[in-house]
Parts: sequence; structure tokens; C-alpha cells
Amino acid sequence: MQNRPDTYVLAADVGGTNTRMAVVSGDGEIHALLKKPTRCKEGKEAMLQFLLSFMREIIRKSELPCEEIAGAGVGFPGPLDAETGIIFNPPNLTGWDGIPLRRILEDELKMPVSIENDANAAALGEWWKGAGAGTNSFICITLGTGVGGGIILDGRLWYGASGMAGEIGHTTIIRNGIKCTCGNSGCLEAYASARGIIDRVQNVLSERGDKRGIRECLTLERISSMASQGNEMIGSIIRETGIILGIAVANIANLLNPEMVALFGGVTNLGETLFKPMREEVKKRAFEKATEPLKIEVAKLGDNSGILGAAKSILLRISDSERA
Ligand SMILES: [Zn+2]
Repeated sequence: MQNRPDTYVLAADVGGTNTRMAVVSGDGEIHALLKKPTRCKEGKEAMLQFLLSFMREIIRKSELPCEEIAGAGVGFPGPLDAETGIIFNPPNLTGWDGIPLRRILEDELKMPVSIENDANAAALGEWWKGAGAGTNSFICITLGTGVGGGIILDGRLWYGASGMAGEIGHTTIIRNGIKCTCGNSGCLEAYASARGIIDRVQNVLSERGDKRGIRECLTLERISSMASQGNEMIGSIIRETGIILGIAVANIANLLNPEMVALFGGVTNLGETLFKPMREEVKKRAFEKATEPLKIEVAKLGDNSGILGAAKSILLRISDSERA
């Protein structure tokens, strides 16, 4: 169901480094967008106050009367329960375990609030207004510092039985593989995240006794430019990452048979060196019937995916409640 273009909602994309907020219309126009550093080091109370005063500032900046804002959608670092809006101990935020963020914001703002984990919000935004627009089944894989994911089936986020669905980064790709931050080993994230790629390059450099390479602060940009200058060792690590990603996408294709898998985040800047072996691996491993309709695309909205997804989350909640 479409929301009317003259419905306006507040949308917040709360990240570990920056928080972006805007007012978004029912047809996805972004108004009054601002970005500020997230005050996540100062504890829960300071951060709550930061979020609330930032939200009020955006409403003022939009010049809409508060009653015209139909609700607020928030993308927040998980894990969290989107149904109740309770946050469960995000790794980068101390003092946030069991915090009923949705209820706190609803009490303060006097409007309906929806909370999504950040990967789901990015997926929802990209499905609504980005690469996935018009699809009915859409999977978004976020390849950033970590690897996250969001699953949209029949035009709705799929949360699973306990809100854990979409954790594609922690599906096992290699038995007895590299230890992952989650405690498992061989997870997709341990290889295909920015951290996973940088660590693997660093390990090979140190095995080869390349002191300069180890001393240099390795970034994805640096790795990418070394690969394009013909560094064969780095090229082969990126190609291996493409193959590993291809295994993950082939698993998704066979399991869910989606119309589209969109890749999002800094790792996608590695370009064709990563994508070519990935596509070949998907074709090699998945059923032809599943890969024929499958489009694999790079996400389109960049930094705006989270904001638009947070907006769509509350718009869906509002239209559900109007229908009920
Ligand atoms: Zn893991």
C-alpha cells in the first residue's frame, strides 16, 4: 500500500560514527537533512538526549507543525527487537542492554515510532527507492566494517522467529576457517568485510616479511589502488573474496530464489576484481533456474539508504494501523 505524498515522517539513521536525520515525505522526498557525530561514548542518557534534541531540531528545520509529522522511524545499531523496539547490548554502545527505545521516544515525541536494526533499514531503503525498487523479493548485503544483511520477501522485511533473520555475515562459508568476532569460525564476515580483507592482506605481507607493508596503515582504498597497480598478491586476495562472496550469494539464490541481491558498502569499491569471480561462482554453484531471474547489483542510495529505510519502516507501520 502506498503512503500519500503529503504524509511526512521523521527519519533517523543512527550510526556508530555519525547520525543522519531528515523529514521524509510519503513518496520518499528527503527534506531538512542534517548529519552530526553520534555521541555514543558519553553513555546512554547523553545519547538519548542527543537523539531527542536532534529530532526536535529537524522538525523545526522542516518548518512543519509537529502535528503534521505522522511518526518517526529510527535505524539503530543492532541487535534489537523491531517488534517491541527494545535494544539488546549493541557492541559499540555501553549501557544499552534492554533499553525500550521505542517506548522512550514515543513518550517524549508523542508520535508513533518504529525501530529497525541498521542493516534492515538500509535494505528497506534500497528496496523502496534504490536498486531494489519494483522487486518483490530482495536481499541486501552490507559489506562494510562488518557484513550485515536484510531480507525483503513479498514486500516486507523478514525478521524470523526471534528477529535474527538476515545475519548473512555470520553464515559459515569455510569449515574451520578464520575465527570471526561472533565466536564462530569461517563466517562470511571474517573474509568479505573491510576488516577481513585488510587482515588477510596484512597476514600475507607479514608472512613475506614485508615490513613496509605492515607498517603502512592499510585501508581498503590503499588495497584497491595496489591491486589496480598490478599487485598480484593483493589481486588474488580480492579475487578469493569475490569467490567467497559468490558462495554466499549462490546459497541465497538456492535458498530464497530472490529477484535481486544488492551489495552495499565500502568493499563494493573494489569493483570488477571482486565482482567478476563472484558472478562466476554464483553461476557455478546455484541452480540455473535460480540464477536466471537473479539480478546482482550495487546499491544506489549511498548514505541515504538508512534514512529512507527508517522512513519506510514507520510509513509501513502507519499504513498498517490505518488498515487495521
Ligand atoms: Zn561470525
